[in-house]
Amino acid sequence: MTGSIVLFGPPGAGKGTQAGKIVELTGKPQVSTGDMLRAAVKAGSPMGLAAKEYMDAGLLVPDKVIIGLIKERLQHDDAKKGVLFDGFPRTIPQAESLEKIAEVTSVISIEVPDDAIVDRIVGRRMDPETGDIYHVSFKPAPSEIQDRLIQRPDDTEETVRARLEAYHAQTAPLADWYSDKGLLVSVDGNNSIEKVGDLVEAAVIQLS
Ligand code: AMP
Repeated sequence: MTGSIVLFGPPGAGKGTQAGKIVELTGKPQVSTGDMLRAAVKAGSPMGLAAKEYMDAGLLVPDKVIIGLIKERLQHDDAKKGVLFDGFPRTIPQAESLEKIAEVTSVISIEVPDDAIVDRIVGRRMDPETGDIYHVSFKPAPSEIQDRLIQRPDDTEETVRARLEAYHAQTAPLADWYSDKGLLVSVDGNNSIEKVGDLVEAAVIQLS
């Protein structure tokens, strides 16, 4: 399959977890704007420092910054046959800009109700060495790596509520936008990781 795939859904829907599966199935590289921003924050670049203020408040980083990051990323050789966008686009203007620079052939929407999201995000932990994502109850990490796990600074309950608000106001309208173009496939994300993985795999096969 040529072209790019968009993985769409609220924060905590399991996009990062399921992205790994899609990368395995399609060979397309994962392009996560959240990961790119966190790398910029860690590097302490002026852009990273400016972005951090928005991220910590649970707000979206301005479109101009995000579109700049994506344009740069799509110049890399590994992006030539399409990529898997994870957490991008998150606004209609981002989707409109994307339309001009890449061909999106499918959008997989992982749907999870708000009340399930808060539990998922507040219990979420990451292994900083591998980037693997765990959950204190739903997907415990092996005991030998427990000590090094970290919690994202924006994974607090207060910030999650702000992120959900941003999602409903700015990002959710993209579902209709992509559906009108005949590109949207919805997956019920309110299931176990394995079950969602099977549904995502079926969606990818259906699309290819
Ligand atoms: P994520 O890891 O996808 O949950 O993103 C973490 C945070 O980074 C979000 O809450 C936003 O502040 C910011 N962010 C990531 N991707 C985008 C995007 N496409 N547009 C605006 N802000 C973004």
